[in-house]
Amino acid sequence: MDQGITTLLTLEGWQVIGVEETARGWAVTVDAPRPARCPRCGAIRLHRHGTLPARAVPHLWIGVHPLMLTWVPRRWRCAACRQTVCPQPAGLRPWQRWTPAAQEAALILLRAASFRSVARRLGVTDSRLRRLGDRVVPTADSTWWDHPGDLVLSLDEHSFRGQDLLITVALHAPDRRLLAILPDDRLASLEAWLAALPEAVRTRIRAVTVDLKRAYARVVRRWCPHGQVLADPFHLIQDAHRRLDDIRRLEQAEARTTIPRWPLVKGYEHLTSSQQAQLAEIQRRWPALGQRSHLKED
Ligand SMILES: [Zn+2]
Repeated sequence: MDQGITTLLTLEGWQVIGVEETARGWAVTVDAPRPARCPRCGAIRLHRHGTLPARAVPHLWIGVHPLMLTWVPRRWRCAACRQTVCPQPAGLRPWQRWTPAAQEAALILLRAASFRSVARRLGVTDSRLRRLGDRVVPTADSTWWDHPGDLVLSLDEHSFRGQDLLITVALHAPDRRLLAILPDDRLASLEAWLAALPEAVRTRIRAVTVDLKRAYARVVRRWCPHGQVLADPFHLIQDAHRRLDDIRRLEQAEARTTIPRWPLVKGYEHLTSSQQAQLAEIQRRWPALGQRSHLKED
């Protein structure tokens, strides 16, 4: 297809093999390029190494009609270092359910409207948007503190376009909703947002869950004198498990075998010796799973 179209769709190097109108919008079927070289060692000899089950993810919107990207992930193996490569379209990470462009579109809409209305406009379910949106949303709405009683906030880091980090602020109680998308992940931005709240509101903040960065906690303590800072390890572990399990199921489908789940999700010290042996075998045969499992332990 015309080079300009693939650029427009942020699909450089990919081949568009079909565009189809669906009940909700558009489906664009694409095919992965052969990687020019191994990302690990730079060798240029890569062999075909099978395919994974077909995927479909929201990518862009044409007007109000979602454009789904569909493709069959192809895997390649480096002849020199045995690294497997599986090209992903449009900046997608293997475990992501939305492309960065889709995330950006949803973020922008969510700044101005409620979850439900955005979900309806984008043609996705509430819960689908919520999975993205647990880390996202609108700002400059000062009615959220009108409810009487204690307020609970949560701070999350959000990776935007797969690289820039930004902070999102969400209300967890009395109701759940996203309050702000800060422009970046700088402490000064968080501090400015908190400092802009009336003091009477800040003193009603009873707890703040803080994802990842400890320094955020210091800023919260300074501006929310009655706010208890809670780490959110449960959320982090759950998220890591979910991503790991997505990869496990993809590998399992491809290998047409069962990859046991427990050795991957249980803490290493709690594994029986036969589970430890299973884990070593998984790490040897499916390096991507081994890597995810290390990340989780960190
Ligand atoms: Zn290599």
